[in-house]
Amino acid sequence: MTRSPLAGARAPAVPEVPVPPDVGSVLDAVGDTPLLRIEGIWVKLEFLNPSGSIKARIATYMIERAEREGLLRPGDTIVEASSGNTGNAMSMVAAVKGYPMLVVMPRNVSTERAAISRAFGAEVRTTGDFHVNAALETARELGEQPGYFAPQQFDSEWNVDENRTWLGPEILRQLPPGTLPGAVVGGVGTGGTIIGVGQAFREVNPECRIVAMEPNESCTLACGEIDKHLIEGISDGFVPGVFARHRHEVDEIVAVDSADALRQCRELGRRYGLFVGPSSGAHLLAAKRLRRDRPELGEIVTFLADEGEKYLTEHFD
Ligand code: PMP
Repeated sequence: MTRSPLAGARAPAVPEVPVPPDVGSVLDAVGDTPLLRIEGIWVKLEFLNPSGSIKARIATYMIERAEREGLLRPGDTIVEASSGNTGNAMSMVAAVKGYPMLVVMPRNVSTERAAISRAFGAEVRTTGDFHVNAALETARELGEQPGYFAPQQFDSEWNVDENRTWLGPEILRQLPPGTLPGAVVGGVGTGGTIIGVGQAFREVNPECRIVAMEPNESCTLACGEIDKHLIEGISDGFVPGVFARHRHEVDEIVAVDSADALRQCRELGRRYGLFVGPSSGAHLLAAKRLRRDRPELGEIVTFLADEGEKYLTEHFD
């Protein structure tokens, strides 16, 4: 074997160029999403947030607040129960900030959701079946161990705080001058979005209605029923602490059929180029019905909560 003439030769010294510090991160792109008006309804395009959903906001807000308040320290593991979007969003924030992340998910959520968290370097543990209760228990128990921090989106008031101080005021700034929101409509995963945004809206219009939407097949809030449905990300099979604490602030609970929600969801892609998940279809449908039945409410605001790609095999193929 011939030896390379360079073998054993010393590499010429390369002068060290100091690397300037990195600037910014993907978290700078969270928020400031467009607000559109379609079919008479104001829709906030939250699926455009990094990690693909509205939950990028609470993930960023809760993790940064925990850092500021000394509840989360370098090296700690973040553990959160999630049917998908919050887990994905927290995995993204944990990746940027260098925390190990453990997402506990119910077994039957779409495989894409678990894969997305793994793509951000998180560990995913599955437990329970369709609903998130078992995952919640596991995350809560782990969160009590030293070296762990559990944001607990379903119970934490920080979730409402984010929506009252960030998402809600952002929408108010985007509405045309002199336009007051008359109602906010949305599904309840935690309840944080409609309650926090509703609180912000009531600061400018105390009459603003907060309307919760849930699937007909599993009307847990209105009639205590728990069953399977197709609107992933909302109505996880229990009444979350956030919603229970603020229930008195919610004016109405309306129901939408999963099948109608999916039809509306596909229509959003075909007609407006908005490729979004089933809850977005359900939100728009509930908002349009409210507008039809109660025109006196005035301007109605809702959310396109997450992007459609992770539902491709389930609902679009
Ligand atoms: N839509 C989707 C797709 C969601 O993932 C969620 C939150 N899990 C919601 C709506 C409802 O948000 P909230 O938790 O604020 O009630």
